[in-house]
Amino acid sequence: MIIPQTSCSDLNEPDLLTFNEALACIIANVKEISGHELITISQAKGRTLAQAITAPFNVPGHTNAAVDGFALNSADLPVRGSRRLNIVGQALAGASFAGHCNLGECVAIMTGAVMPEGLDTVIMQEQVITIDNSIDIDNSQHAGQNVRRAGEDLAQGECILTIGKQLTPPDIGLLASLGIGEINVKRKLRIALASTGDELLNIGTLPAIGGIYDSNRYGLLAALDRPDVEIVNLGILSDQPDALLTCFTQISPAVDLLISSGGVSVGTADYTKMALQASGQLHFWKIALKPGRPLVFGKIANTPFFGLPGNPVAVMVTFYLLVLPALEKMLSITDKPLAPTFKAKASETFHKKQGRTEIMRGILSQDGDGNWQVKSTGPQSSGILRSMSLANAFIILPHSSASVNQGDWVTVQPFSGLF
Ligand code: AMP
Ligand code: MG
Repeated sequence: MIIPQTSCSDLNEPDLLTFNEALACIIANVKEISGHELITISQAKGRTLAQAITAPFNVPGHTNAAVDGFALNSADLPVRGSRRLNIVGQALAGASFAGHCNLGECVAIMTGAVMPEGLDTVIMQEQVITIDNSIDIDNSQHAGQNVRRAGEDLAQGECILTIGKQLTPPDIGLLASLGIGEINVKRKLRIALASTGDELLNIGTLPAIGGIYDSNRYGLLAALDRPDVEIVNLGILSDQPDALLTCFTQISPAVDLLISSGGVSVGTADYTKMALQASGQLHFWKIALKPGRPLVFGKIANTPFFGLPGNPVAVMVTFYLLVLPALEKMLSITDKPLAPTFKAKASETFHKKQGRTEIMRGILSQDGDGNWQVKSTGPQSSGILRSMSLANAFIILPHSSASVNQGDWVTVQPFSGLF
């Protein structure tokens, strides 16, 4: 009698982790890296702030005009009818009015110019009648209008950016507005990346029967092409347990994270798991996740190790759903731009097995009323990388859900928050 081994379709194995259990195990087993570096703000986009930033002075530094017009004392605003004021000077951005302005007088002022002493109100140029060297104003204006107060953007002493913030273009602008040119950020995360498989070909070599080009490494290199990551590219490793083990063991002290793809299932040439068992700690290797079921997570000499599946779609899915959160923890990122998930209406039936998380590749669009709807990209096999390339969102079908009917609500995650 043949006793079948457990396979991809078996959801009753004791060592099969749910997606949430696997993610929790990963997060619990990766540590924040230590060390930061001083960099200029022009290199800082996407880096993680390692110091809190406090405003050393008010921004704006002085109360100034918000529009082009005339600055005056609000005591001169007429309650009824109109009033004539003499223009006694002008204030430009960068060239203040140094004189004194009495009641019955005003100063021509441009946007950004410092408000002359004693004046508190600006009337827009378009709302006055200019007669020779004076203006007529009416009773429709309000005291204090069209003025930007000192410190209304940033108040001196206020904490404006906190440790753990992944810096965005507005943050860089904010730092510049404070005259801050250099900041301390978390050092870059060093990641070693390898592909495993005797069938793999490097780009530039001739196609061969049974050979396939190594797409995983290029896809992952692109996914990891970010300002806070440094890659050690290990290339293609052959399916030899000793060679894999030697390579991973040698590189592990020099990096913070090891990522490989391929060789993690139960085939004769799947040695990655074996290498991890022999050299370190294997935390898990099976997740109730489609695609991405065989995924080795563990440590080699204390360096976290992800042995991603070989199939290209499974590589992408597991990278964004499981590796990325680990990377963000290691980099101490606590505040980053949103990668939202939300509900969309299924435009068709999605077949699903209960008892595993399924990540479909979908095309998200808005119907005529502006409501979000999602359809599948077509065949969802984990070897069909085009299903990722055609998609603009993941469709996340949770562990306990069964098949989804047309018109049901499903959770989607747009790629625009991820890539
Ligand atoms: P494996 O888990 O090593 O048996 O790989 C599963 C499938 O993914 C096989 O069809 C492999 O040829 C394919 N595969 C593995 N590594 C890569 C890679 N780097 N690029 C493209 N396909 C790969
Ligand atoms: Mg292989």
